[in-house]
Amino acid sequence: MTPSSATAMSTAVVNASQSSTRPVRRTCYEPLASTHPGRQGIAAGACLPTIAVTEPGSGSHVLGMTTTAVRDGDDYLITGTKTFVGNSHIGDLHGVVARTGPGSRGLSAFLIEADRPGVHLTPHQPAMGLHGFSFGEIVFDNCRVPAANRLGADGDGLDVAYSSSILYGRPNLAAVALGLHQAILDTTIAYTASQHRYGDPLAHLPVVTQRLGAIQSRLMTARLAVYHAAHLLDTGQPCDAELINAKLINAEYAIDSARTAMEIHAAHGLHPQQSSLERYLRDALHIFAPAGTSDIQLLRLAEHALGTTAPPWSARFKTPVPRRAAVSVGR
Ligand SMILES: Cc1cc2nc3c(=O)[nH]c(=O)nc-3n(C[C@H](O)[C@H](O)[C@H](O)COP(=O)(O)OP(=O)(O)OC[C@H]3O[C@@H](n4cnc5c(N)ncnc54)[C@H](O)[C@@H]3O)c2cc1C
Repeated sequence: MTPSSATAMSTAVVNASQSSTRPVRRTCYEPLASTHPGRQGIAAGACLPTIAVTEPGSGSHVLGMTTTAVRDGDDYLITGTKTFVGNSHIGDLHGVVARTGPGSRGLSAFLIEADRPGVHLTPHQPAMGLHGFSFGEIVFDNCRVPAANRLGADGDGLDVAYSSSILYGRPNLAAVALGLHQAILDTTIAYTASQHRYGDPLAHLPVVTQRLGAIQSRLMTARLAVYHAAHLLDTGQPCDAELINAKLINAEYAIDSARTAMEIHAAHGLHPQQSSLERYLRDALHIFAPAGTSDIQLLRLAEHALGTTAPPWSARFKTPVPRRAAVSVGR
């Protein structure tokens, strides 16, 4: 995880792809067995997947989805609309969660090729920020999909949706927010050093100095939160609460710091020709909703505190990264 302030938007694209890739790749070695050839393409980087869970009438309420997958012989017929799907218009393979029955075990996941008959893209709509990243709507109109394209067993759809969101979406989005946050600080430091008011650099004005300190403090806390969570995830330790908190802190603090920075820039922050700051503010606001709004993160953290959570997803899918061989230094 190496957030870069200069490449925050392209990082978002890569991260969105990663969020979709991991749950599909995982099925290579998890009990969610699927034999779809796209898995090899994804692993090789030749096939760009998406993860399509959100619907116009059910975002946070995943179980409220209405897209259906109806068994028809050796196939399923998929009907419904998925919205805000990252990379929707450039993805090769959609990971789609649909209803196959009632209740929380009534969701199943499918790999659906983008060029399969019955898959339609709603014309792309521009969004206020993250212009290097696209997300849009996919309509499945009685789309016939072989049962072999089902990702895992019937009823595993919620696992696919939650594991991709909690284990990958949250740390990835936290990293995007962290990169933006660093860019916000860098831009503001440069501005306050170059601008002079009352005969001194703007950075020397006590209120401005305090605000710079507040941005720096939020940035350091946000960085610690996501690095710690990512370390736990990488080393196979239970870390759902840490991942949730990392997403919460990074999204909220980046937005807070973008506002503080805008106030320091005052009117000078408003023109795209004069400063990148207004873009960073718009981009930061994009991190709020995906993989759960801050309200949802707080809800999950409260459940963690109350001890009412289900077994952590990070413990269910323990796949620590292999440790690197020790490098000897010196003679
Ligand atoms: C940049 C971006 C990329 C995205 N990428 C994808 C993607 O690749 N695939 C995909 O499927 N989706 C994607 N999404 C959609 C994202 O997952 C949803 O926006 C998110 O789940 C929230 O749903 P919603 O926007 O419909 O808000 P809603 O769920 O309708 O929420 C509306 C309001 O109600 C609050 N609320 C809802 N439920 C509760 C609750 N239980 N308790 C308290 N408050 C609540 C929310 O906090 C919010 O303020 C993306 C969104 C964005 C912005």
